[in-house]
Amino acid sequence: MENCIFCKIANGEIPSERVYENDFLFAIKDLHPRAPKHLLLIPKVHVEKFADLDDENLAMELYRAIQEIVKEQEITDFKLQVNNGARAGQEVMHLHIHIMGY
Ligand code: 5GP
Ligand code: ZN
Repeated sequence: MENCIFCKIANGEIPSERVYENDFLFAIKDLHPRAPKHLLLIPKVHVEKFADLDDENLAMELYRAIQEIVKEQEITDFKLQVNNGARAGQEVMHLHIHIMGY
């Protein structure tokens, strides 16, 4: 999707340090962390919102990735957050899951 910052990060147009990656998704550190370990888990395909996620395999990949990331990063206590829609605080219109580790 043109002019989507997370698509640009996904395709390498904007460089990023990835703390986790597989064929379907990747995780980066949030630019403005609101927790000691604030990561963003982002699917590589452009899905605008959580409500638009209808690919069950991708949903499962996201679920598995969260469990692997927190284990790898030794995050025991964390919050997950998905903002769906601008009025709920979604600023980047490319699905992402906040993993906020403490
Ligand atoms: P939202 O409010 O859409 O759920 O969250 C978007 C998040 O993306 C924010 O926490 C913001 O700090 C983060 N963010 C926005 N642009 C960038 C970027 O270019 N790089 C990284 N690493 N994080 C970003
Ligand atoms: Zn996108």
